[in-house]
Amino acid sequence: AAAAREWTFDGTGRTADGHRVQLLANVGDPKGAAAAAEAGAEGVGLFRTEFCFLDRAEEPTVQEQVEQYRAVLEPFAGRKVVVRTLDAGADKPLPFLTDATEANPALGVRGYRTAVRHPEVLDHQLEAIARAATTSGTEVWVMAPMVSTAGEAADFVERAHAHGLAIAGVMVEVPALALTADALMSEVAFASLGTNDLTQYTMAADRLLGDLAALNDAWQPAALRLVHLTAEAGVQADRPVGVCGEAAADPALAVVLTGLGVTSLSMTARAIPEVAATLLSVTRDECVRLAELALSAPDARAARAAVHAELPPLI
Ligand code: PEP
Ligand code: MG
Repeated sequence: AAAAREWTFDGTGRTADGHRVQLLANVGDPKGAAAAAEAGAEGVGLFRTEFCFLDRAEEPTVQEQVEQYRAVLEPFAGRKVVVRTLDAGADKPLPFLTDATEANPALGVRGYRTAVRHPEVLDHQLEAIARAATTSGTEVWVMAPMVSTAGEAADFVERAHAHGLAIAGVMVEVPALALTADALMSEVAFASLGTNDLTQYTMAADRLLGDLAALNDAWQPAALRLVHLTAEAGVQADRPVGVCGEAAADPALAVVLTGLGVTSLSMTARAIPEVAATLLSVTRDECVRLAELALSAPDARAARAAVHAELPPLI
C-alpha cells in the first residue's frame, strides 16, 4: 500500500518538533539536476562529476567542464550545490586517471588519491568549478572523495581556496577518517558521509558483490557508530555533516541518521517526499532514541527490525 501513497514535500525538511534536516538531491548530470530542482530538492548534496565524463578516453577540457558544471548549477540558483571532484576508480574507472590493471581497485589509486599522480587534473577541475560558480548565482561547496587523513583534507582545502572556492570539505567514506573526525573538523568547512563506501570498508565487504549484501548494509551498527562519531565531531566543531550515500533514501534509516546528529540527507530526488514525510512523523528525541536502538543491535538485520517495530506508522 505504501507504494500507492502520494507524498508531498513543502521544501523544508524537518522533524515533527521543527528540528531542521536539509533534504538534498544526488545528481550526475544537467538533466538530473533539472529534474531534482523541479522536484523541489533544497539543493544538491552530491554532484558526481565523474558521471559527466565516464565515456571519455581523455581528460575533458576546462571549457567543456565549465559548460557541464554551469548546466548543473543553474537550476539551483539561490540554493546550494555540493560539487564532488572526480571520483574515478574502482566501480567508476576513467581511462585518463586510473590504472585498470590494479589488483584491488577499491583499495587503490582512486578518488582524491589520483591527484598525487595527476595533480593537474584536479587543478583543471577546480578551475572549471570556480569559473562555473561565478556566473551561476548558486552557493557552491566543493568536496573531495576517498580522503583518508585529516592531512589530506587540509591539502585539498588549501587547493580549493587557491582557486577561490571558499567552502571546501571532504567525504567521509574511509573508516580511518571517521575515526579521526575530531582532527578532521578543524581542517574543513563541512563533511559528507558516503555511507556506500564507508559501509563496504567498515565491513570489508565489496559493495559490488550481491553475495555480501547482508554484510554490506548501511544499517550495520559498526557503520552507524562511525557515522555517529563523525556527526558528533561536527556538532562539537560547529561544522555541518551530511549523508550522501544510499542510506539517506531509506526513510527509517533517515530517522536514525538524524538521531545520530547529521544535519542534511542527500538522496535520489524521487526519495525525498517519503523521507520528508517520515521525518515529520517523529520528534528529534524520538530520532535519538531510535538511533540508540540501532547502535546497540547485534547486526544490520536486528537494527532495522528494532527501529521498524518502534517507528510510528505514517498517516
Ligand atoms: C558513497 O560512497 O556513499 C557515495 C555517496 O559515493 P559513491 O556511491 O559515488 O561512491
Ligand atoms: Mg563513495
